[in-house]
Amino acid sequence: MKKIILSLITVFFLQNVLAQSTYILCGKLIDTKSGKIESKKTILVQGNKIVNVFDGYIMPKSKTAKKIDLRDKVVMPGLIDMHVHIEMEFDAKTRLRKYIANEADVAFNSVGFAKSTLLNGFTTVRDLGGTGVNISVRNAINAGKIAGPRVFTAGKSLATTGGHADPTNGSSRKLIGDPGPKEGVVNSVEDAKKAVRQRYKNEADCIKITATGGVLSVAKSGDNPQFTIEEIKAICDTAKDYGMHVAAHAHGDEGMQRAIIGGVKTIEHGTYMSDETMDLMKKHDAFLVPTITAGKEVEEKAKIKGFYPEIVVPKALAVGPQIQGTFARAYQKGVGIAFGTDAGVFKHGNNGKEFGYMVEAGMPAIETIQSATITNAKILQMENEIGQIKKGFFADIIAVDDNPTKKIETMENVVFVMKNGVVYKQ
Ligand SMILES: [Zn+2]
Repeated sequence: MKKIILSLITVFFLQNVLAQSTYILCGKLIDTKSGKIESKKTILVQGNKIVNVFDGYIMPKSKTAKKIDLRDKVVMPGLIDMHVHIEMEFDAKTRLRKYIANEADVAFNSVGFAKSTLLNGFTTVRDLGGTGVNISVRNAINAGKIAGPRVFTAGKSLATTGGHADPTNGSSRKLIGDPGPKEGVVNSVEDAKKAVRQRYKNEADCIKITATGGVLSVAKSGDNPQFTIEEIKAICDTAKDYGMHVAAHAHGDEGMQRAIIGGVKTIEHGTYMSDETMDLMKKHDAFLVPTITAGKEVEEKAKIKGFYPEIVVPKALAVGPQIQGTFARAYQKGVGIAFGTDAGVFKHGNNGKEFGYMVEAGMPAIETIQSATITNAKILQMENEIGQIKKGFFADIIAVDDNPTKKIETMENVVFVMKNGVVYKQ
């Protein structure tokens, strides 16, 4: 009997919590679809969904309904970052940590990174590679065990031997074996298929490859091509079988062209992209993820003696300053721009700096916000669920103090965060 009463109370409680209506009064509301900023709107949230958006201010009638007053704020949908590394935050000890940290240490650190990302307005992220702990982080967030953004993760990046994401680069040969597809290292078409299937087995959401050399790996070149076109094609075709898209890290032009022709959806960084490659991007409907913030950060940190290994410093000084200029050219040329920062290379939570850098390079503020909402939602095939404040969409809602079209730095100071109908910051 006691049990029955207890479960009846639980059902009553759950129904009431789920049916809880929240009225959010918005002084200004950004319509990311039209690019217009509207005034005096009320968003009605029930459970984890937006159930209506009204003109004017509507005050709740029922006593159980909640009111959130954002009449002096600018409200917009939760932001999406297409390039983060939720497991790590780079510092001078990163190389050593690979040998002294256990999986549990990585997991505990990422709890703070995930929370900081969410509290700064990013309600969804695409994680482009770590050790695989990122998959557990996603699951813990989805289960409500920790606070964080909705995560789409690549699990572990795919590289070739000695390539940018070979997990044993720069390590003592006494300590390493010969990593293969399971560890994300591929050297043939067969390896490529197996590596993608392994990611699927490990429950990744998408695939990340390192199509060229990179800045922070302990290797000489930051831009050489590191996959054959046949290997990239095999990765993209196999990923398609499992409903996954492919993101390619690329600084050099040749590796970038192979990646685009091979079928990747996004080019990360794109540093030395030629005009010809920009046309190729448009032809293949691929998007550039600029990561300007990461470029600025590595350039700055490379000037601190001992922060990066010696072999990294010249690459950071060469690549870092180029990224913003390439983004400016790509935007002018009409290449699709997806918002992404590479947070983890710099401090998680500072993702909002990217908006200012994009505006500085010539993209109008409203378009930077559309890139971080509408465009990114489309790439994640979530365009009917996130990226807009609209009836039926997930209640991912944030607010800032100022109008970002007049003061873009306001995007670095998000004052209200709701994800899935739950308020995390107010
Ligand atoms: Zn990255």
